[in-house]
Amino acid sequence: MMTQHFASDNNAGICPEAMAALKRANATGHELSYGEDRWTAAVCDGLRALFQTDCEVYFVFNGTAANSVALSAMCQPFHAVICHELSHIETDECGAPEFFSAGSKLLAVEGPLGKLTPDIIEYTATKRSDMHFPKPKAVSLTQSTEVGTVYTVEELRAIAAIAKRRGLNIHMDGARFANAVATLGCHPSEITWRAGIDVLCFGGTKNGLPVGEAVIFFKKELAEDFAWRVKQAGQLASKMRFVSAPWLGLLENDVWLRNGRHANAMAKRLADHIGGLEGVNLMFPVESNAVFAEIPPPAQAKLREKGWRFYTFIGAGGCRLMCAWDTSPDTVDRFAADLAKALHGLAPAREAAGEARGRGRR
Ligand SMILES: *Cc1c(COP(=O)(O)O)cnc(C)c1O
Repeated sequence: MMTQHFASDNNAGICPEAMAALKRANATGHELSYGEDRWTAAVCDGLRALFQTDCEVYFVFNGTAANSVALSAMCQPFHAVICHELSHIETDECGAPEFFSAGSKLLAVEGPLGKLTPDIIEYTATKRSDMHFPKPKAVSLTQSTEVGTVYTVEELRAIAAIAKRRGLNIHMDGARFANAVATLGCHPSEITWRAGIDVLCFGGTKNGLPVGEAVIFFKKELAEDFAWRVKQAGQLASKMRFVSAPWLGLLENDVWLRNGRHANAMAKRLADHIGGLEGVNLMFPVESNAVFAEIPPPAQAKLREKGWRFYTFIGAGGCRLMCAWDTSPDTVDRFAADLAKALHGLAPAREAAGEARGRGRR
């Protein structure tokens, strides 16, 4: 049995279809470099077919680069990007969006369930209009979000309506785009260009690729000179076919969607198993492949002793449990059983503490 845990969906390996496509691309001898090869052309066509539109497609090595170069294509250095305070661009990219845009400021705002709302965007876009403050020029939203929720088609359309009115471009961080499509059961176009999204960073890595994300421009004029931007950012792969070809494995037979559905199903299974355990509280609705749960720290320690890995970066006691394309039902069930055991050992202490707290309040 191969080791699995819940630290991140990027802990998983390469899915078999992507690996097969990678091997196929390596079996044909020499190919032109820097994206002039036929594998890259085939994937770009495949993505255009998938989205049912004539979009511009580029590949970069990771999600931080995808977001950063995409945003820098939308903004001058004196512009600003409205994003959620929990967004990956704000919390996990080491200032790369600001760096690659040569200074565009991120305006990180609050919003329920990890989502931006039309109201907060309207407020943030209009509260200043003088030249002493950076001019809002883009909205960045994450689908599915950093807390595992999913924007509905209606929510996206409402955001797009405000954004268009205020002259804001819309960027979608789709590191987990597949999971969102799987949840909504919609066509991928419905939550992108048909809803008014201008640029999508379509994540492949967490969906089963070895490396590489696609930057897809639905608003094609934003892609002007983008190739130069990618090259200057150090993101142009000379052996591009090994970044692009694995995408063929995901696109053929909609493996990307199958992988997303599977990861989501495992998260549901995990939430069903642990949500009812005494001492465990689910923190967000489980709408994609993440389960956020408050777990008493002593129980967390016992889980870690057994080798389980997970992060606790959302509040004290909040654990993030990510499911991947290959997470097995057995892994989920064993984790849930280990958690139940870990909690059981704590029960008397917890009840005593609860009683003490209750007395204190009275
Ligand atoms: C994982 C992730 C990314 C990409 O991260 P990299 O480590 O740079 O590939 C971007 N956005 C979100 C929301 C993510 O979860």
